Amino acid sequence: MSRTAFAERFPDNAACARHLFEKRWPNGFVCPKCQGAKAWALDSKPFTFECVGCGRQTSVTAGTIFHRSHLPLLAWFQAIYAVASHSNGISALQLQAQLGLGSYKTAWLMLQKLRRAMVDPDRSVLEDIVEVDESDIPYRTKADPIAGGQGRSAIGKLHIIGAIELSPEGQPRRIRLAPLENFSAPSIGAFVAGAAEAGATVLSDGFSAYKSLKGYNHKPKVVGKMAAHVVMPWIHRVFANFKRWALGTYHGVRKPHLHRYLDEFVFRWNRRRHMKSSFDTLLEIGLRMAPADYWGLIGRTSPNRI
Ligand SMILES: [Zn+2]
Repeated sequence: MSRTAFAERFPDNAACARHLFEKRWPNGFVCPKCQGAKAWALDSKPFTFECVGCGRQTSVTAGTIFHRSHLPLLAWFQAIYAVASHSNGISALQLQAQLGLGSYKTAWLMLQKLRRAMVDPDRSVLEDIVEVDESDIPYRTKADPIAGGQGRSAIGKLHIIGAIELSPEGQPRRIRLAPLENFSAPSIGAFVAGAAEAGATVLSDGFSAYKSLKGYNHKPKVVGKMAAHVVMPWIHRVFANFKRWALGTYHGVRKPHLHRYLDEFVFRWNRRRHMKSSFDTLLEIGLRMAPADYWGLIGRTSPNRI
């Protein structure tokens, strides 16, 4: 969708609300409390419907990532469009400028909310052949733009683990990435269990933690002193691309939010051949998602809204 087409399709909040309504209730309004189909649109509250049967008031954004947001729906739609149409993503600073938002924090929170909508709760696990490996990435602190320890030091580095699904012919398909607490068998086993279908063929570098994987056809790919990027080229290409992307788009990632950036990269990789539909995908997942507030996004529990 071109920028002009987007502006024509969504000129104002009402157009966005109509779109949400059609997505949520394609066969007409359904009351979430009594399943009643008759409702009045309230004049006093925008885009809110009162059930004729039980009196329950339901906003078109209730139960979605837009719920209770102080920002107009149009701003959210514009943010989703910006995220979906920039092939490499958009920084909070860029989004703030593009939408004319009052604060950097607002832009940052919008992006964090949208990153949550990049993980489909109903996505299916990787199948067939799955390359799995770990990597380290340097992280950014407030004091130092890019902190990175040298060599084996873990200071200033974050462990990540990744998996890529290969077709039986060896063609790369979907990926998964996650932060990795440590290199223990339970940590690695938990990632593989969540990422790959039971019975899949798992290719690893033969590291001891993979030997205790259960329910997989594990094939360690250690060939003498050959480097892991030679025997498992695809997952190493993913790691290299993630590092380049995180530096290029975000100037490095910060430790507490690593998983969100990994999620965004996975979203972009897995849709790299059909990014055009990303606007609809993000909106559609966002509609199915429970709302999160600021404190939830930063890992605490006090109320705050954007
Ligand atoms: Zn009702």
